[in-house]
Amino acid sequence: MKNYITHDEWCIVENGFHPEFNEITESLMSLGNGRMGGRGNFEEKFSGKTLQGNYVAGVWFPDKTRVGWWKNGYPNYFAKVINACNWTGIDIEIDGEVVDLNTSKVLDFTRTLNMKTGVLERICTIELTSGKTLKIHSQRFLSLIDDEGGVIKYSITPVNFYAPAKITISLDGDVSNKDSNHGEKFWNEIAKETAHGEAFLTLETKKSAWDTVPTFQVCTGMTFEVFKGLEKVDFATFPIKSEKYVANEFKINLEENQTYTIVKYAVNLSSENHTIEDLTEDTKSYIAKISQKGFEQMLAEQTAAWAKKWEGNDIQIEGDVAAQQAIRFNIFHLQQTYTGEDARLNIGPKGFTGEKYGGVTYWDTEAYCLPFYLSTSEQKVARNLLVYRHNHLQKAIENAEKLGFSDGAALYPMVTMNGEECHNEWEITFEEIHRNGAIAYAIYDYIRYTGDSKYLEEYGLEVLTGISRFWAQRVNWSSDKNKYVMLGVTGPNEYENNVNNNWYTNYLAVWCLKYTLEGFKTLKNQNLEKFNEIIEKTKLNFDTEASKWQHIIDNMYFPYDESRQVFLQQDGFLDKELLTVDAITKHRPINQKWSWDRILRSCFIKQADVLQGMFFFEEDFSIDDLRRNFDFYELMTVHESSLSPCVHVILAAKLGRKDKAYEMYVRTARLDIDDYNNDTEDGLHITSMAGTWMSVVKGFGGLRVKNDKLSFEPFLPEQWEGFSFRVGFRGNALNIVIKGNNIKIENITGDKIKVLIYGKEIEVGSKSSASIEY
Ligand code: BGC
Repeated sequence: MKNYITHDEWCIVENGFHPEFNEITESLMSLGNGRMGGRGNFEEKFSGKTLQGNYVAGVWFPDKTRVGWWKNGYPNYFAKVINACNWTGIDIEIDGEVVDLNTSKVLDFTRTLNMKTGVLERICTIELTSGKTLKIHSQRFLSLIDDEGGVIKYSITPVNFYAPAKITISLDGDVSNKDSNHGEKFWNEIAKETAHGEAFLTLETKKSAWDTVPTFQVCTGMTFEVFKGLEKVDFATFPIKSEKYVANEFKINLEENQTYTIVKYAVNLSSENHTIEDLTEDTKSYIAKISQKGFEQMLAEQTAAWAKKWEGNDIQIEGDVAAQQAIRFNIFHLQQTYTGEDARLNIGPKGFTGEKYGGVTYWDTEAYCLPFYLSTSEQKVARNLLVYRHNHLQKAIENAEKLGFSDGAALYPMVTMNGEECHNEWEITFEEIHRNGAIAYAIYDYIRYTGDSKYLEEYGLEVLTGISRFWAQRVNWSSDKNKYVMLGVTGPNEYENNVNNNWYTNYLAVWCLKYTLEGFKTLKNQNLEKFNEIIEKTKLNFDTEASKWQHIIDNMYFPYDESRQVFLQQDGFLDKELLTVDAITKHRPINQKWSWDRILRSCFIKQADVLQGMFFFEEDFSIDDLRRNFDFYELMTVHESSLSPCVHVILAAKLGRKDKAYEMYVRTARLDIDDYNNDTEDGLHITSMAGTWMSVVKGFGGLRVKNDKLSFEPFLPEQWEGFSFRVGFRGNALNIVIKGNNIKIENITGDKIKVLIYGKEIEVGSKSSASIEY
């Protein structure tokens, strides 16, 4: 755990340069706007520890994956979000000496990510080896309004010298991924050009062996202005071109105590959004558009756009600055990773902050991220996340076919970019099939929250049919048990593989079959024409398939321990040596200290498994059921997935275990800022950030949707003086304030609304508020 980031309500601040943690800080200070993003790298050359990262949403490469013992059904490639052209470069040489913080003495230094405005700022004074002292002030942001562009304002001030300087403003596409196989580079150069004060570079991803994988072209363009003090100055530029690199260089005689500022505008346009024929011209027009606006106007628009976002989703925590900073940090990164404008995009576990996990889509999106976007963004944002999976339905059917399923059964991939499976560990690729259930659950969650029941007939039922068909083929009848069983699966707890009858997966499968059947029955009553249309489209033999589904629903096997009265994670779980995590404090994290063999044979649980099911389907269980299962499993859980603590916060809160809820919350909220798991340098845990949000809103705030109403069962953690959060719900924007034993519902926009507080209904008029003691 690190503790070098200053606690501040709105900013992530590194006070004093910490070169040893530079990669961590770069992750923390990543910027994004849904279309492009990048790590908080320095603009000028830096020879110290750094992970360079710039990414363009939806642009990826199918890296080779053929390793080890190849198994039929494995995917052909591993889709990676690739490091794209570095558009931030501003290199400085003073009297032949390269400005580089790694070789200079850093006299003062502050790097700040302002989450209120989305601006990354650095102010520092350095002494070069020659003894020259230089001040650097840089500000950079990726525009939320012009979301294919970004801007940098970079100033230098000589403190004690007059000297000639050479400044190089570059676009560098000669980049690779740190994790690429054999250091392979993924880009080919297509075109480059440079003129006075501007440059353009078009790159294309290399052709892959797989014809289902597209190539992408990205044209990066830049222009810049130079100011001496406040005055714009003319300068002569020299074009520089080398492989996948284009730059403008100019010389300037620096005067002591005079500030020189470069304003660099850059854009990344991808062939995903522009035709290849128009790519360069569109890039030029885009650059012209943003540079005409200028830095100040872009900044004003940026500040207003972020203010609007915060208006809809801020969480305020009184009396705990560290907690306040952490929750805003989580919300900020979620909002800049996914804006929901484009149903082809999704949320990678690292977003735009690093390469790990390939930047692709996992079940994290449906199980963890969806609730965040449902409550904090326009309805279309969450809807687009669902449509993304609908668009991949055919690929999911083909994926299932590869594994031997048939007749429209769909298995969504564990990891994907374009709908094709990219994960190649058999115990996960083939067996961690609960992801299919999370995709179905998200449809239910979306409709429950928004009331948009039309979604089911428009898209939802087709997806549910594919998934239900998969479950119906994946189970088998056990004549020994006289029940249906599901063999050879991996549950959410990946510290168990190839188990039989994972309770969570069995439960999810049955729920899914029920939900699909109910959906069809309701539609048949309400809109026979639409019902027939879907039957036709999916070629569903409703009578036979539905009765098979019903038979499974009625006869599924669920492992249960009568003496403890707990659901069993899987068959045979009780044969394990049942220890608690207290017994292995010196051995943690077990994924770094133990062999895989030892992990698999142990009882220790990576992340919520049975408890994940009790969280999803809480209404199906009594509080006593929950207590018994929580007490049994929590003691064995090592939370070595960042997705684990949040589920425990919510369940502990429900059980009234305030201390446990808070303890788990602290683990999730400052996971990245304090580098709890020693891995922030690889990038941030974007998807688990949504879990942190859920911890506050669903955990401490107790928010649920019950019978089409928002319901709250809050409690105030002792460590806080109060907290408030904003949520949108079916046309209303609400601010919920919790202080002492009081909850106040402020109805900011929308008609009057009825809400439930600990089961009691209260009405809150339009633009008014209501408070009650609980
Ligand atoms: C977790 C998975 C998760 C993945 C990506 C793994 O460590 O066990 O549940 O989908 O990370 O976040």
